[in-house]
Parts: sequence; structure tokens; C-alpha cells
Amino acid sequence: MSFYSTRGGACVTASQAVLWGLAKDGGLYVPSMFPQLNQEKIAGFCQMSYQQVAERVLRAFLEDYSGAEIEQAVHAAYSVPAFDDPAIAPVKRLDGNIHVLELFHGPTLAFKDIALKLLPYLVRLGAEKNEEHREVSILVATSGDTGKAALEGFRDVPGTSCTVFYPDHGVSEMQRLQMVTTEGSNTRVIGVRGNFDDAQSGVKQLFSDPAFHAKMDAQGKLPSSANSINFGRLVPQVVYYFTTYAAMVNSGAVRMGQPLNFVVPTGNFGDILAGYYAKRMGLPVGRLICASNRNNVLSDFFTDGIYYTHRTFFQTMSPSMDILISSNLERLLYESAERDGRLVKSWMDLLKDCGSFSIGAQRLAGLQKTFSAGFADDQMTAEEIRRVFEHTGYLMDPHTAVASHVLGKYRADTGDHTPAVIVATASPYKFAEDVLTSLLGKAAAEGLTAFDCADRLSAHTGVPIPSQIKALKTLPVRHTQVCEKDQMEQALFAPAE
Ligand SMILES: *Cc1c(COP(=O)(O)O)cnc(C)c1O
Repeated sequence: MSFYSTRGGACVTASQAVLWGLAKDGGLYVPSMFPQLNQEKIAGFCQMSYQQVAERVLRAFLEDYSGAEIEQAVHAAYSVPAFDDPAIAPVKRLDGNIHVLELFHGPTLAFKDIALKLLPYLVRLGAEKNEEHREVSILVATSGDTGKAALEGFRDVPGTSCTVFYPDHGVSEMQRLQMVTTEGSNTRVIGVRGNFDDAQSGVKQLFSDPAFHAKMDAQGKLPSSANSINFGRLVPQVVYYFTTYAAMVNSGAVRMGQPLNFVVPTGNFGDILAGYYAKRMGLPVGRLICASNRNNVLSDFFTDGIYYTHRTFFQTMSPSMDILISSNLERLLYESAERDGRLVKSWMDLLKDCGSFSIGAQRLAGLQKTFSAGFADDQMTAEEIRRVFEHTGYLMDPHTAVASHVLGKYRADTGDHTPAVIVATASPYKFAEDVLTSLLGKAAAEGLTAFDCADRLSAHTGVPIPSQIKALKTLPVRHTQVCEKDQMEQALFAPAE
């Protein structure tokens, strides 16, 4: 299988798509087709481990990786104790026919681990296959969770380095501490005075600048991306849609072949796009419900077909979704445009020059056959955290609570009570202060540090604090560099502090 650019150019192998991250024309790499897994194969997944399903799904896309390479990578990436649950992505029943897919059992307590534990193996193998001898220099813009997961994934991996840019006031205290305490001789963390979109545009701009590539090359470095624009990030996420379906069949929550809805807290559109890919591969996914926070650019898009970014950027209690330019939507647009790269490019040019584009009523109707969308502001999110805890004893992080709220609204509006899975993307302890105040009111956190909030939250709920959070309290801060948003390149080339 080859990979094309969403903007019309390129025809590369899987390993090249993984190694290079972004196509030269600024587009994203997309598979030339969706491999098909029939019902018999999917039924077979019910008897398999997470790792075995991962091997099958990855092999279907990554044709120039050998079966043995994929098997090794999958088993190295998905193991206990790096993941604290042998199921890797366990599914739990919440209430009625609503289940929760927990994607936060990895080393950094957010769903990014699922992809970023595996990506370094795919990148290293990709370098070998393409006789790339330069250092693969991973550049990441993060809204909070990708940064730490990438740093942990690439830390001390030979032949690579990893630099993370994060909005210096746009992440939670725990997220910031997780990043700035990172060890490893090849890691770097730089705060950007701006928001996530500034950091992401800065990194994207570097990737599309030939002078930057020449400068890196002169230093023996090949810049690459670990953001979800990299296809190597996307394909590991397709796996858990299959394992979830299999788990739901095994528990009797759905019968083989029956549709299952997923509601996904969405920022850069990577996670939910993986669900769409799974559906296109033959998984009986019913509706994909896209859940946004107050930065509801996507729920507007799925309502009127207009993507409009000239709006106020809000900082919310679900910072990993504080995004206005949702990169992976471009891959869905490519399918919506019947794979016409020129049309996608014209939309992306409009987005860049005018801040908006419209796909038209017919294409919108096509997308609405699969996608629904909704959003929750901070007050609704806080109420949902409390409602779910009081009603079921389950403690949700704010991102997951956004999804849970949107599912409730979707069901009330449509009467569609198809069995549904809420994708739970982070541990509540990454956002201890907001979760605590959601349950007990603002006064409960007054004067408390993030760690005090975690203690208090655990005392109140009985949910144990993950060891990774406890450890942060005493780890030394190793990264203090901060730069202006238009100085990211200079910061990168400046000697590390
Ligand atoms: C990254 C992230 C999201 C959004 O996922 P996308 O793939 O960017 O849509 C949601 N929740 C959490 C906790 C995240 O870290």
C-alpha cells in the first residue's frame, strides 16, 4: 500500500510516511486504500490479546515493515508495568448500555501513550529501511499530553532527539511538571508565550520551510513529527476501536455485527479519525460523536459545513482540546472530497488566507451520515463530573466528562440509545484541582497545591493517586527555557539551558 498527500502530491511507502511525518506540499499522508477486515476476522479478535489485534491492524497498513518487526515493536511497546493494566485499553461498564474505554493506563496517564509508546520503534525501523543516517529530530507542539508522551517515548532512543514546544500558560500544573522534569540526554522542553495554535503553527511553519530543513541537514539532523499529523500516530489508535468492539461482544453488550456508537473528546481530530478509519475497514461502528469544549469549532463544522477559526480562543479545564485549527480534519476532508487533493488544497488555502472555508450542503450531508457533534463548556463539564460520580461512583477527567455530557445531549435529542462507548482519554489526577472543585466547589481547593488537591480528591473519592503523579512532587525541574511565539526556530538552535 502506498501513501498519498491530502493535497494531491506524493506517493511514498508506509515507513517513509512515518519517518517524514508531513508531506512536502504541506499535506498529510493518507493510505491509498482502507484494508478490509471481514466479520470473521473481527470475530477472531474476541479471542486475542491487545497485542495480537494490534499486530493484525498494523500489518494491514504498514506493508514495508515485516511481520516480525511489527510483532517485536508491539510487544515492546505494550507491556506491564509501563501500562498498569494487562488489557492495555480496558473497557468498563458505566451505566445502562454506556461503557467507558480507558486509554490512560500508560506511563503518562493520557491516551497519547498508546501511539507514542509504539511510534519510536516505527521511526527507528523507518530510518533503517530508508538508509537514513541523520539523527531523527522529533519536533512536537503540545496542548499538554502529547509532549510528555513523546518525551517518554523517545527518551534515550538512539539516533533520535525530541523537542517539545508547549503554551507556557496553557497546560495544567501536573502536565507542566510532567514535561519539565523529563530526564534523558536527548530531550528538550520549551515554553512558548502563546496558545497551542501558536505552537502548532510555529512547528508546521518550520516543517514547510526549505531553509530550516537545510540548516538541520547541515547539523546532521532530519526533522520529523510526533504530532498526530504523523500517520504513525494514527494507526496505533485504530487498534483500540477493534479491541473495544471485541470486548463488548465478549461481555454480551453488543452482538457481533450490531452497531456500536463512540463519543470521543476531540481536539486535533486524531482519536476520532482513527475510529472513522476502523469503520471504513469494516468495523460495525454506528455513529461517531465528536465532543468539543467551549472551543467548539468542530461541532459548528458538523452542523453547518463551515469551518470558521476567526473566533475567540478560550482556555478551559480540558486544555488538551483547546484547539481551533484541528489538523487531522484534513484527512476526513480528503475522503469527503472523494480524494481530490486539489479541492482539499483550495480549502486549506482559504483557511490560511481567510480563516474559514465551506464544504457545501451535499458533502456536509455525507459526513452527517456518520458524524454527530456537540460541546460542553466548563460549567457543564464540572456538573457532568459531579453527576457521574454521584450517580455511578466513576471519576472522570474533564476531557472525558465533555464526551459524557455530549453523549447525554445526543441521546436526549435523537432518542438513539444504541450501545455507546465514551472514550476516556486521561486520568482525573492530571487535572486534580479542576476535578476536585467540580465535585466539592471552588472553596475546596483554595490555597492548595496541585498535590494537595490530588490528596484531597483521593480521600474524597477513594480512587488511588497514580504513582507517576506522586513521583512528580520530588523530581527536579530540568527544563526552564521559554521563547516568544515567533522565535521558536531561534530557541531550537540556541544551546540548551
Ligand atoms: C489529545 C487529547 C484529546 C484530543 O485528542 P485528538 O486526537 O487531538 O482529537 C482529548 N483528551 C485528552 C486528555 C488528550 O490528551
